[in-house]
Amino acid sequence: MRYLSTRGQAAPHDFEGVLLAGLAEDGGLFMPESWPSLSPAEWRALRGLPYPELAARLIHRFAGETLSLETLRDMTTAAYAGFGHPAVAPLVQLDSRSFALELFHGPTLAFKDMAMQLLGRLFDHVLARRGERITIVGATSGDTGSAAIEACRDRGAIDIIILHPDGRTSEVQRRQMTTVLSPNVANLALNGTFDDCQDLVKAMFNDAPFRAEMRLAAVNSINWARVAAQIPYYAHAALALGAPDRPMAFSVPTGNFGNVLAAWAVRAMGLPVERLIIGANRNNILARFLAANDMSMRPVEPSLSPSMDIQVSSNFERLLFELLGRDGAATAETMQRFRAEGRMPVPDAAWRRATGLFRGFTLDDEGTLAEIRRLWTGQGYLADPHTAIGTAAARAHAPEDRSIPVVVAATAHPAKFPDAVERATGNRPPLPARLADLYEREERYAVLAPELADVEAFVRAHARRNTA
Ligand SMILES: *Cc1c(COP(=O)(O)O)cnc(C)c1O
Repeated sequence: MRYLSTRGQAAPHDFEGVLLAGLAEDGGLFMPESWPSLSPAEWRALRGLPYPELAARLIHRFAGETLSLETLRDMTTAAYAGFGHPAVAPLVQLDSRSFALELFHGPTLAFKDMAMQLLGRLFDHVLARRGERITIVGATSGDTGSAAIEACRDRGAIDIIILHPDGRTSEVQRRQMTTVLSPNVANLALNGTFDDCQDLVKAMFNDAPFRAEMRLAAVNSINWARVAAQIPYYAHAALALGAPDRPMAFSVPTGNFGNVLAAWAVRAMGLPVERLIIGANRNNILARFLAANDMSMRPVEPSLSPSMDIQVSSNFERLLFELLGRDGAATAETMQRFRAEGRMPVPDAAWRRATGLFRGFTLDDEGTLAEIRRLWTGQGYLADPHTAIGTAAARAHAPEDRSIPVVVAATAHPAKFPDAVERATGNRPPLPARLADLYEREERYAVLAPELADVEAFVRAHARRNTA
């Protein structure tokens, strides 16, 4: 499998190259040259497989030159062995047609673990084979950073430095990052928003001498390997509910568009995905785009679902590339105008293609609390604020045909956002036993202004590549 940049200029890479590069040299994102398509018979043959086996077989379609099926199977088995549920990603029925796909049974209690636990192992394997080391730099609105740190801690060939917006993550999220005192882990809190953090990470990657000196690598959802590692759970849910012989809809609470892009990918691979519903909090650029082709940036506002407090959904570029008929030059120009003018000029025909499949939904904090309460009193289901936006979106936009099931991505454990859950239900969800002492553990992090030179100096000071 070869990968192309969405901006059409960078040389194609194989899976290993894409894993290590993260962002393409022309500033674009990597996409498979063509989607591996499975016939209905091939899909049926995958029904009933244990999650790690299904994951290995599907990811192998994207990584065949880099990794054997046996190697991948070893990695997926190890990656998901520590999860708190034997099914890894169980489906919980919420009502006659909707299901929660619980993606939060990993070590940091959010869906990011599903990809990150595998990504840490992929990096380790590839780097060991090459005798190299890398510096992972990432931006997080809360969940990505802790999942990445958990996946990379104490790995010999990796240093990891994570930027988060100071005071804008939940305390559990911050502590899950800042209490990891491994020598290869550093945390940086920036006086700014998540978008500022993400912009700085992009700026570091675009600083070619710095990028080469540090051997920068990405774990943000711009890394294709992460999207690839999210594809299996949508396939697993769909197969369990009767695909490829029954159509499905997915509802995904969305920030960077990475998770829902994986749901889109299983459709491109041949599963009958009828509709993709995108849930947003008041930072609803994608919902505004779908409603009225209004992809315009607004300031980020904090909400009860901080992992979705994002205005620039970086993975949207991958969908844009497809909507524009895989025209790299047109994608590059559209993205440049978005950067320059704060508004993305999507041609009407491309917007219409998007609205044929996607629906957008916005829920404010009051609505989110009401939905958490409704799920608790109605179904006895304790949902975190992100998941609640997904279930509300599912009800608002489920296909009229009631025989089509709607699978909601349950993206965080309720104990990760206990304040909101308690406000809504009066019930404070306890942390699972393995995290019970989180509030007593020592924290370590630095605070800086969002200035590229200062942040690069911090990274240089903490990357151990010189002393290796
Ligand atoms: C990261 C995250 C999201 C958003 O996922 P994207 O891939 O950025 O769209 C939603 N909910 C939770 C709990 C998250 O951690």
